[in-house]
Amino acid sequence: MDPRVLRAMATPVIGHLDPAFLAVMDDVSQFLRQVFRTRNEFTLPLSGTGTAGMEAVMVNLLEPGDEVLVGVAGYFGQRMAEVARRAGARVQTVEAEWGTPLDPDRIEAALRERPARVVAFVHAETSTGVLQPPGPIVEVAHRHGALAVADCVTSLGSVPVEVDAWGLDAAYSCSQKGLGAPPGMAPVTFGERALERIRSRKSPVQSFYLDMTQLMAYWGDGARDRAYHHTAPISMIYALREALRLVLEEGLEARWERIGRVHRMLVAGLEAMGLRMLVAPEYRLAPLNTVVVPEGIDAAAVQRRLLDFDIEIASGFGPLKGKIWRVGFMGVNAEPKNVLSFLAAFETALREQGLRLEPGAGLAAAAAAAG
Ligand SMILES: *Cc1c(COP(=O)(O)O)cnc(C)c1O
Repeated sequence: MDPRVLRAMATPVIGHLDPAFLAVMDDVSQFLRQVFRTRNEFTLPLSGTGTAGMEAVMVNLLEPGDEVLVGVAGYFGQRMAEVARRAGARVQTVEAEWGTPLDPDRIEAALRERPARVVAFVHAETSTGVLQPPGPIVEVAHRHGALAVADCVTSLGSVPVEVDAWGLDAAYSCSQKGLGAPPGMAPVTFGERALERIRSRKSPVQSFYLDMTQLMAYWGDGARDRAYHHTAPISMIYALREALRLVLEEGLEARWERIGRVHRMLVAGLEAMGLRMLVAPEYRLAPLNTVVVPEGIDAAAVQRRLLDFDIEIASGFGPLKGKIWRVGFMGVNAEPKNVLSFLAAFETALREQGLRLEPGAGLAAAAAAAG
């Protein structure tokens, strides 16, 4: 994290109804609208990690027995389907092979057979490194009278997220990935159609904690009579505000460009080392790179060796366990110098495992791609 975010967390803690704190909340909502690129009034950070955002969207928009279609192309799509199931919805999934995007035509065919109230998909599937093009899915959902919901947990603050321009009815994210704050908050945004849906519910939202209309009585922009719902995690909100300030000071476009440049350097370096990316170039997710583990290499041993150089990368989930590494460059860590130190350490670890590599080829290619 940026030291400014850490320092913000050390700000003296005041009460959750203190007028000075209400001003902090207003900043956070306003900054979140800018980062989500939305005018949605219902935009706030929930107390909880990204999964709380997922749960909030499902329990607010769905009532028991409602039909929902979930696109599943990886672990987090599976989790969305599971959360919707536990909310009592009737879940239909449209699947894609892990490492590939969802096919909007298949979603449309499924909706023709079985209409749904909500269509949900993962914009940036962290388990596979695929960035899902959102436009066609949102369009298909709306054509079939469904609300469109996107998981933007790994995309927000790293790659373009355009809630209003894409017509998303609800979206959620987390504080600890692209935004560079500590884990613990889940920014969410709900548009007008989603609110109509919530207002026309026949049953109360199953979760008291994540009931959006109650939360808005506390968060509501400019609301004079802020109503206590649950105690806000004050220090986390200080941290999120500072992280959002940093994002907006840099500028969203400049940030996307920085992360894109680091991604291009990394891929150039890895390919020059003879390694292969899991995902086709047009669907690669810049902040989260999935690298295929070469034949005969012990993926976990490479990860352990990297820890000696203070570098932690992640393994694959589910069907990709032991088959890929997941290399993230997000927030303040997405810097060219970090790509070079990663590639140097990675090359060392792979050569120790017996992989034959031309020494320095990855570094040279990455440096050349930095421009
Ligand atoms: C990390 C992640 C989540 C879950 O977020 P937590 O903060 O771990 O609860 C959900 N969806 C995607 C795509 C993620 O990457």
